[in-house]
Amino acid sequence: MLNISQKTINSKISCNSVGLHSGNDVKMTLIPAPCNSGIIFRRVDVEKGKNEIKASYKNVVTTNLGTTIANEFGTRVATIEHLMAAIWGSGIDNLIVELNSEEIPIMDGSSSPFMFLIECSGVNIQEEQRRMIEIIKPIRVEEKNPLGDKFIELTPAPEFSLDLHVDFNHKHIQQQKFDYHSNLTSFKNDISRARTFCFQHEIEHMHKLGLAKGGSLKNAIVVNDDGVVNEGGLRYKDEFARHKTLDFLGDMYLAGHYIIGHFKASKVGHGINNKMLHEIFANEGSWRLV
Ligand SMILES: [Zn+2]
Repeated sequence: MLNISQKTINSKISCNSVGLHSGNDVKMTLIPAPCNSGIIFRRVDVEKGKNEIKASYKNVVTTNLGTTIANEFGTRVATIEHLMAAIWGSGIDNLIVELNSEEIPIMDGSSSPFMFLIECSGVNIQEEQRRMIEIIKPIRVEEKNPLGDKFIELTPAPEFSLDLHVDFNHKHIQQQKFDYHSNLTSFKNDISRARTFCFQHEIEHMHKLGLAKGGSLKNAIVVNDDGVVNEGGLRYKDEFARHKTLDFLGDMYLAGHYIIGHFKASKVGHGINNKMLHEIFANEGSWRLV
């Protein structure tokens, strides 16, 4: 196996945007972090000592319309998955993410603006070697649905790959699949620009629940019976499957390390993604750190 160095960013860099669900204006600053620190979220609006949350599957508290993490003091950060995907896609191991609010800014609903931010800062190669999770025995999780086809399988493979399948049973988003292969797929070109999406009929319900207050056609694809509402249409013809791939990669990076193995994922969401990580770490004989 190749030796790969850990990486962080070169220097502090900030952006501002609205939180998708909270509707709050958020300032986010990415800050370089030392070797072996992983990804740490820090709320500058919360008192010191209680304001840091490690990006870990163990800290996930809700998976409804986004992944939210919290620490033992109840300090939360919501909608972390698009940023986590960009960090994964940029090859960053160590980073501090400072925020003045409880939700990651939504930007344009994709990972692309975060990739741009990291590129502008530049990548700093660190002294220590990266450690990765190598899968050595198959692992599977599933959730009950009428067709019995909501599952994730993970099997040993020489490098990371993912076959992802979606089916929304909607006339404009039926079956789509996306295959991600480490040496054929470019996260930046093929995945990072895929935006989050929702169905128009869900919006009123989300507003009643106090969600999606910052949502607009600038940061989400909206689909109704006539098709895509957004002027300009889609960025990729299978943008929905690509966005689900993006969400999946962001969620899997809560393992705390890159995973080496082949994933097969069908009709997945943030909940089952988190269940998969719990299943991996509950089965000590199925993986090793290399
Ligand atoms: Zn998403």
